[in-house]
Amino acid sequence: MSTPTSWGNLPHTTATLLPVNRRKAAFPAVEDKVLPYGLGRSYGDSCLNDKGTLLLTRGMDRWISFDEETGIICCEAGVSLDEILRLASPKGWFLPVTPGTRFVTVGGAIANDVHGKNHHKAGSFSTCVLDFELLRSDQSRTLCSRSKNASLFHATIAGLGLTGLITFATLQLRRIVSPMIEVEQIRMHHLNDFFRLADESNHSHEYTVAWIDGLARGESVGSGIFIRGNHASEASDLSWKAKKTAAIPLNAPSWLLQKQSVKIFNALYSKKVKGERQAGSEHFLPFFYPLDAVDNWNRLYGKRGFYQYQCVVPRDGNRGPIHEILDRIANSGQASFLAVLKVFGDQKPEGLLSFARAGVTLAMDFPNRGPKTLKLMNELDEVVRQAGGALYPAKDARMNPEDFKMAYPALNTFTEKIDPAFSSSFWRRMHT
Ligand SMILES: Cc1cc2nc3c(=O)[nH]c(=O)nc-3n(C[C@H](O)[C@H](O)[C@H](O)COP(=O)(O)OP(=O)(O)OC[C@H]3O[C@@H](n4cnc5c(N)ncnc54)[C@H](O)[C@@H]3O)c2cc1C
Repeated sequence: MSTPTSWGNLPHTTATLLPVNRRKAAFPAVEDKVLPYGLGRSYGDSCLNDKGTLLLTRGMDRWISFDEETGIICCEAGVSLDEILRLASPKGWFLPVTPGTRFVTVGGAIANDVHGKNHHKAGSFSTCVLDFELLRSDQSRTLCSRSKNASLFHATIAGLGLTGLITFATLQLRRIVSPMIEVEQIRMHHLNDFFRLADESNHSHEYTVAWIDGLARGESVGSGIFIRGNHASEASDLSWKAKKTAAIPLNAPSWLLQKQSVKIFNALYSKKVKGERQAGSEHFLPFFYPLDAVDNWNRLYGKRGFYQYQCVVPRDGNRGPIHEILDRIANSGQASFLAVLKVFGDQKPEGLLSFARAGVTLAMDFPNRGPKTLKLMNELDEVVRQAGGALYPAKDARMNPEDFKMAYPALNTFTEKIDPAFSSSFWRRMHT
């Protein structure tokens, strides 16, 4: 047995690791429950399968076809978004939706129906998925799309890897003429600024996101930097090379995450914007993937690991549930470096268990300080529950099963589509 990890480095589990390197190979004969595992960029236990088997999909990394005229690409499910960008963007094609790291596999992106900074315009990742093949434990292979085997298609999107193994997928990419993004960064003094800027940018900007200072209190709740951007419309050289990344070699000591260091970091980050507003152009790599510049940055949280709390709640005015959540976090003094706020659009989610839905989403990291951290998150759950919101399974290691059931009303329909040979630590935790 090995000890695979998720991005938050918790919980600690063991599993048998079984590489699946060929999409045409038969479904492996395994006694215990299985779960596909991509690049392990999920934070909690949805990509883990304690005492079971993980099917490692990264070896399924072949291209099947790429039509440079139409931007339709077909690849094995272990191909990463980074690899797609390296192949397609120099030819003028880009991912229509991308999460905040490019080191995720196509299979992982589908299984969580991931979202990006353009949810208000483009919806989630599924919108660019034309079809995929699903290999089930009974050796059946099913091509799933919106018109063929549609119920399995919608169950597998955001299906948490439980409906079978995606072996390959076909995606529709979008055109770009430059690798640059025209970016504006605007200082926010409170939450009202965030909502005003989000409303103002809703039609004019494809990408919007805000970094907020989770320690700000009182009238300053929601202060930070609003970032918005569009792909540059002036054609320029599309070739690029990623800079060498820095790496965190070891788990960081616990003092690094004390409130004082977080305060200093937040103050320095805030100084990035000179004055009230700054505009310019930026390569898509730092714009979409600032965290990818540092390998293993999750080690900054030390060996106890960390939780990411990501919720979506209805907006409900400018002082609705999100204000209450931010207020509680600030008063707890437990906020960490990264806090991201974004308004989701009202596109109908395509997966039975898709997380992204109309409302405001907050994603914030909390170093694992044991019961104190869990208590705070339980309190935040209360606000999310009252507001009729949801937590994101891809980021979760501790949500309450009742909250899961309430926030995902299509759960029963989904459960019928689960492959009986599949399970995960997350799924068992939701059913105890
Ligand atoms: C820095 C960072 C930023 C992030 N930003 C965002 C963001 O902006 N938006 C967002 O939505 N998410 C974000 N995430 C989360 C991440 O995008 C998702 O967790 C993604 O699903 C991880 O993909 P993976 O390949 O690492 O899959 P894993 O984490 O290994 O697995 C994720 C799920 O996919 C399933 N799976 C993997 N491969 C297959 C397959 N071939 N067939 C069937 N199921 C499969 C697994 O069983 C599991 O349920 C971020 C994560 C990090 C670390």
